[in-house]
Amino acid sequence: MVCIYFWRPIFNPLYYYYIFLSSFLTSRVDMQLQNDMEEIDALYNNLDIRALEAEFVEEAVDEGVHRVFFRVLSLDQTELFATNLSAWHKVNSMHVPLSKLTTENPFFTTIPIPGTEHKARVIYKKLDDSYILQVGRSLRDNEELMEQYGRIFAVSMLSTMAFACIIGWFMAKRAMSGVERVTKTADNINKADFSLRVQFGKEGKEIDDLVMAFNNMLERIQQLVMEMKEVTSNIAHDLRSPLTRIRGIAEITLTGEQSLEQYRETTGNIIEECDRLVQLINTMLEIAETDSGFSTLVVEDVNLTEIVKNACELFMPVADDKGVLIEIDIPPEPLFTSGDKGKLQRAIANLIDNAIKYTHERGKVILMVERTSTHVMISVTDSGIGITENEMPHIFERFYRGDRSRSTHGNGLGLSLAQTIIHAHKGRITVKSSFGKGSIFMVTLPRVSVIN
Ligand code: ADP
Repeated sequence: MVCIYFWRPIFNPLYYYYIFLSSFLTSRVDMQLQNDMEEIDALYNNLDIRALEAEFVEEAVDEGVHRVFFRVLSLDQTELFATNLSAWHKVNSMHVPLSKLTTENPFFTTIPIPGTEHKARVIYKKLDDSYILQVGRSLRDNEELMEQYGRIFAVSMLSTMAFACIIGWFMAKRAMSGVERVTKTADNINKADFSLRVQFGKEGKEIDDLVMAFNNMLERIQQLVMEMKEVTSNIAHDLRSPLTRIRGIAEITLTGEQSLEQYRETTGNIIEECDRLVQLINTMLEIAETDSGFSTLVVEDVNLTEIVKNACELFMPVADDKGVLIEIDIPPEPLFTSGDKGKLQRAIANLIDNAIKYTHERGKVILMVERTSTHVMISVTDSGIGITENEMPHIFERFYRGDRSRSTHGNGLGLSLAQTIIHAHKGRITVKSSFGKGSIFMVTLPRVSVIN
């Protein structure tokens, strides 16, 4: 492709130089002829026409009779005299209609020199209204020069093309070697080895960028695959435990004689386990659905102060039972965000549920709602067990449960669901905790103004 472009003369700078040189040489000859004519005009003012003949002969001999000729014609185009025309092979005296000639402006034309392959540039002018002056200059030197230049031009074109082909081939090969490495790695990934990375080479920035983008993509895929494996094994584990329990209960019931009361109790236990399973599956489905973005939400203006107030009332009996005090600090006015009311209720409820769950008797949970110029901030503070530094990076992961939480109810999906919901609403959820002293979960959501 590169070669084709270089082969076209218009893409070669030497082509333009060729054209420039050709027109420069022609205009130089024209200038010489013009000068000749001006000198002759000046002489003709002082000498008579016959005296000019001697001047012409001398001038032609000086410059070379094969290079220049002078000729004077009468108005009926009869030759009155001329310099040595032996090298000009009876070059025609008139190539221009008489009507075009004036005493002021000379007339230029290019004519072939008979019997040769060369041309001559000729100037005509009237002297008074009595004579026609013709001066011719051979273009042979110029033509030979241009011919030589043409040869150089052709050679340069060929060598440029060859050079461009070699460079093009070399560059393509260099670039392709990087692409080949990427392809090879992609092929091996088909065999499911996501730990592979493409090595950086010396092919240049573009290929390095491609390699980097490809490696980053691999990194992300590897991470996703790992997460998927982990989630799958967690799901399997979380489904197996209740199923094993259900099977155990059923087995005991089947092997021994039971009273009606015991049958009722076992059936109740089985239903409870089934409910837990259904709840787990529903939460997983809700996370997956909410994860796919804002479009899945049923959006309306949601009053967040009301949500927190209602949640507080809902959890009050649970907190009372556990001996945990709930304090509430919310502004009197409604603070709105745009979102899915049900899901936001769910997210806040999960945080309050955790706060009560991980706080000892006589502990305290504080619910606060504040406003900034653009956002609404909800914080849930507890004086509970706190989160260790080791636990902290994992608490939002699906199915993660801290070691000290195993004795409490839960499936490790509460925070993951809360985070997915808040992110889907373009909000943020952050946590600060002090081990053994308590934690604070903060939710920030974009605030909208509602005009009633
Ligand atoms: P679950 O509560 O069902 O275990 P979550 O996803 O709600 O699952 O929480 C994940 C983990 O984060 C919990 O197991 C617990 O270790 C920790 N955690 C969450 N909230 C709190 C809290 N308020 N205080 C202490 N630890 C907490």
